[in-house]
Amino acid sequence: MENCIFCKIINKEVPSTIVYEDEKVIAFNDVNPAAPIHILVVPKKHVEKVLDLKDEEMEIVAHIYKVINKIAKDQGFAEKGFRVITNCGKDSGQEVMHLHFHILAGKTLGPKIVG
Ligand code: 5GP
Ligand code: ZN
Repeated sequence: MENCIFCKIINKEVPSTIVYEDEKVIAFNDVNPAAPIHILVVPKKHVEKVLDLKDEEMEIVAHIYKVINKIAKDQGFAEKGFRVITNCGKDSGQEVMHLHFHILAGKTLGPKIVG
């Protein structure tokens, strides 16, 4: 998708620190981390948000969670714990309109999910 920053990262037109990649997804460090570890897991297919996922695209979500578990184990924060967040649409504050899953870890996260 033209003018989509995450499509540009997927296509390597914009640099990022990639922590995992396969044929379906890419995961890279968030440029403005909200925790010591802040990784974005992004499907390579441009889907705007979770609400737009078609039934036949739902398998990508299962795959993304497999990748999240793999990253958590490989990077050594699986046992300590982590948080996964997906924003969807205006009220959530979604800024990048390409579906993505935030992994937050590396410290005891606050009890508030909603600020
Ligand atoms: P959202 O609010 O849409 O759920 O989160 C978008 C996230 O993407 C933000 O945490 C923001 O810091 C991150 N982000 C935006 N542009 C870039 C970029 O060009 N590179 C990287 N690595 N992260 C980005
Ligand atoms: Zn995109």
